Amino acid sequence: MAFDESGKIWFNGEFVDWKEANVHALSHVIHYGSSVFEGIRCYNTKKGPAVFRLKEHVERLYNSAKIYRMEIPYTQEEFSQAILETIKINELTACYIRPAAFRGYAELGVYPLNCPVESLIAVWAWGKYLGEEALEQGVDVGVSTWRRMAPNTMPNMAKAGSNYMNSQLAKMEAVTNDYDEAIMLDYHGMVSEGSGENIFLVKDNVIFTPPRASSLLAGITRDSIITLAEGLDLEVREEEIPREMLYIADELFFTGTAAEVTPIRSVDRITVGSGSRGEITKKLQDRFFAILNGESDDANGWLTFLK
Ligand code: PMP
Repeated sequence: MAFDESGKIWFNGEFVDWKEANVHALSHVIHYGSSVFEGIRCYNTKKGPAVFRLKEHVERLYNSAKIYRMEIPYTQEEFSQAILETIKINELTACYIRPAAFRGYAELGVYPLNCPVESLIAVWAWGKYLGEEALEQGVDVGVSTWRRMAPNTMPNMAKAGSNYMNSQLAKMEAVTNDYDEAIMLDYHGMVSEGSGENIFLVKDNVIFTPPRASSLLAGITRDSIITLAEGLDLEVREEEIPREMLYIADELFFTGTAAEVTPIRSVDRITVGSGSRGEITKKLQDRFFAILNGESDDANGWLTFLK
């Protein structure tokens, strides 16, 4: 995907030309990975463009920053407004939104607190993360030899840029082995999540997903799917999942802002269920996309319209 570089990026409170949104080579973030970020989507619903769960994403950004003692010098309300402004100024109606905060340029040493906290918001048109047909056909995944970070090493609940060095190892291994995506286990060998997605499993009409303690990012799509499933009177259990459950599941799917709801059709070349998108997966996808299209009521108040 190549960027259309004609747009504006919100950079430390001001809109700058796309190509002018640069940092110094000695910024702390470049050497020590000191960043936190978000991935958000704006959908062109039938009732106009709307950002999905803006409040929760901004809250998670600020929580990620809090864990790393980073003070973003704007209120969450101001930052949310800046996100909406960035979409409008770039005249987009459906896009991916990438806010980030990071430690900038002042001095260089591991200790970060003397480096300023900088922030940015970029938006661009972006299609389906795992491919258009993946939403219907499903993806082929492999269990990674790389584990998610052990508790008390890198906090998994912070969406920190540096966590994605771990994700990159898993993703590169998956692609090298001809898989679309990786599933990672936690320190204890229990199922955690994908390199950039949460995972759900269906067995005998019960939906399972690993709990927060399984070294995962508490996904906002994960939370949305749990809410939608409960609304359909489906039983959802957040509990530890042993690896072999992946092989004998009736259905498996990923959730994430980028991946949305993507079925998994094989794990380690073992076919999941019937090998095609399962019934419950389809039901949840339909519910999810109906909200994003503006076809069904936004009963949970998940959409923020650009107006
Ligand atoms: N886990 C990881 C590691 C991720 O990068 C993402 C994407 N942000 C998710 C889960 C899904 O989170 P969300 O639904 O909030 O996008």
